This record gives sequence, C-alpha cells and structure tokens, in this order.
Amino acid sequence: MSETTETIFSKIIRREIPADIIYEDDLALAFRDINSQAPVHILVIPKKPIPRLADAESGDDALLGHLLLTAKRVAEQAGLANGYRVVINTGSDGGQTVYHLHLHILGGRQMAWPPG
Ligand code: 5GP
Repeated sequence: MSETTETIFSKIIRREIPADIIYEDDLALAFRDINSQAPVHILVIPKKPIPRLADAESGDDALLGHLLLTAKRVAEQAGLANGYRVVINTGSDGGQTVYHLHLHILGGRQMAWPPG
C-alpha cells in the first residue's frame, strides 16, 4: 500500500482538480466516479484521509457510520429506489487503487454476484 495519505481525492476535496461533486458536509464528500461501472456510480469519501478501511481506528466509528448514512442519502437523492450496491475495495487483493478510503455506490442496473 501507499504510505502517503495525499491522493487525487485530497486534491478533489481541496478543489484543486475538478469533480462532479453532488454532496458535501463537514466530514464527507460525494462525487461521480470518473470511470463509471454502472449508470450511477458515486464515490463517498471522508475528508479525513484514512488510506484504507484496514487503517480505520476505533475513534473513527462515528465517521464510518456517517459515511454509510451519507451513502444511503446520496443513493436516495440519485433515485436508486430499486436498490444499489455499496463496495469498499481494501488493499491490493481488494482491488483498491486510490489509497483514500471510499465507498462506491453502484446502481441503475442489476448487479451480479459473485463480484469479479
Ligand atoms: P478503487 O479501485 O480504489 O476502489 O476505486 C477508485 C475509484 O476512483 C475508481 O473507480 C476510479 O475510477 C476513481 N477515480 C480515480 N481517479 C479519479 C478522479 O480523478 N476523479 C474521479 N471522479 N474518480 C476517480
């Protein structure tokens, strides 16, 4: 894993690079994924740069809950009334490519199982 907490998502939080931001509060940001894997593909991130879910600490429990509730609210706002999938890729085996914790919200089509 990368040891640095500075990623492209830090630049999006600071508005140093553009993103289609659809929600923001003091703790979290949601924006559309640049490489959509579904008709709706939104990322929810904490403003705190936690690299991986595996790096979250017990003091992050309220923040992690907030991210899940933010995902729920953003999915509702995006009109995903038929359901959606929330994914957290963690570490190299998990397929994580950006080392700033993020929840993928995927929806607008039928999801398959098992995932690849
Ligand atoms: P991971 O593979 O780490 O779970 O997911 C990283 C996600 O970030 C990918 O789905 C990728 O398309 C998205 N992504 C990477 N760089 C950017 C960017 O600069 N802007 C946006 N909006 N999404 C990005």
